[in-house]
Amino acid sequence: MPGRTGAVVWRGRPAGKIAAAFRRLELATRPIHPESREALDRRWSGLPGQLKTPAQLLGRAAVGCEGTHGVFPKCNLTCTPCYHSADANKVRIDGGHTVRAVKDQLGFLRRVRGPRAHAQLIGGEVSLLPAEDHAAALLAMQAAGREPMSMTHGDFDYQYLLDVALDDTGKPRFGRVSFAGHFDSLMRGRRGAPRPRTEEELNPFRERFAAMFTALRREHRVRSYLAHNMTVTPANIDQVAGVTGAVLKMPFDMLSFQPAAYIGDDRRWGKDFSDITIDAVWDRIEAGAGQPIPWQGAQFGDPRCNRSAVVLRAGDTMAPLLDPADPKDLAARDRVLAHFGGMFFGGTPHWIVALKVIRALLAHPRDIPLILGFGFRLATRAGGLRHVFAALRAGKLSFRTFVVHNFMDAADVAPAWDLMGKGITSEDPKTREVQERLGACMYTMSHPETGQLVPACVQHSVLDPAENAGLRKLLPLTPKVRTDR
Ligand code: SF4
Repeated sequence: MPGRTGAVVWRGRPAGKIAAAFRRLELATRPIHPESREALDRRWSGLPGQLKTPAQLLGRAAVGCEGTHGVFPKCNLTCTPCYHSADANKVRIDGGHTVRAVKDQLGFLRRVRGPRAHAQLIGGEVSLLPAEDHAAALLAMQAAGREPMSMTHGDFDYQYLLDVALDDTGKPRFGRVSFAGHFDSLMRGRRGAPRPRTEEELNPFRERFAAMFTALRREHRVRSYLAHNMTVTPANIDQVAGVTGAVLKMPFDMLSFQPAAYIGDDRRWGKDFSDITIDAVWDRIEAGAGQPIPWQGAQFGDPRCNRSAVVLRAGDTMAPLLDPADPKDLAARDRVLAHFGGMFFGGTPHWIVALKVIRALLAHPRDIPLILGFGFRLATRAGGLRHVFAALRAGKLSFRTFVVHNFMDAADVAPAWDLMGKGITSEDPKTREVQERLGACMYTMSHPETGQLVPACVQHSVLDPAENAGLRKLLPLTPKVRTDR
């Protein structure tokens, strides 16, 4: 009926407001957000043709990962290699700068790459930030629709984690936090292990790091997602299997390995980094896991850059999420990517997730038997339904992700990027390979000041030194004091 102002009202509310609320609800529960769809389609169309394979996840399931840069360059450990600029430690940590820069960079990523992505709070040692600023940066990332992960060497105390995760009154600021702890014997200066000679020596430090998050959950109900990072050089490659076996026994969700590259601070470069191939690292991961971990069923970007696989762990058994040798698994993958790729659930209330899933399944009811069949095969691989349910009841059912990320050398990236800026595809096969990999990059950094998105390889190889020189002036270690006479 018309209201006093002439507007149609229903139960005291103007009909326009109710229609707007329904539109918002419709959008929130739409399986794939229209801005995600646009960003995915743009990413897919920009991929090099040979990478548009059925296994490709970029542009179909996700736009890729993101990272911050130049937000807190300093670090208090020394690694060989170190991807930070040679002068990173000549820049002051400044929480105000960090939060402003994070907001700018992530706001730009939100505008260009859609409402949801995983993003790393990286670019120095995050635990050198005052806890309040660290938390503010994570909240700013969440406000930009990002699922943040703090990248750290892990050498901080439980109190610091509490100060990040809880507010002044002791209430959790976050329902869940994500941290990636970097532990390897190439790092110098860790408290209690300043010069580790073996990877094994670091196991108590890995355990202690993970235990802080177990305590956080037990005491404050803040859940966590934990990654373990390790740089691999000729000095420690033969210990990758041992690290994999040890870390699999700890509550880490992801095991990520980075073959060393000639990038960043050249004073920290060692010999023969190029000998470490992605295949060699993967072989050792499989040796440590005690079984094959097939990765060919799904690919993020270029296989020369990345390799990853997810396994279901049910008690003492591990089963690959996707079996690339099984045509039924591949058919299920294709259907799921075609119909559900781009759905996101992180940071979304449970009831909205439920409505999204119901709408997606109602739109594709014939996919339901396919998905159930996939789940049944996965459970069979993991030891059978009874075993999986028993593991669930015992709290021993989890997913583990294995990743190898293979950064490129600065000497190769710089000329390839220069040519790409001029729209030239190189005639030289090596440079063309680098251009292809940059074109399929799944790890992006943003420059709102120029409107550019750049691969992390380009950030570290080409842009970091000048950016760091600017930061040295902006945030000098010893602020100039004005002396008024
Ligand atoms: S950052 Fe470099 S190595 Fe990583 S995906 Fe991008 S181009 Fe490849």
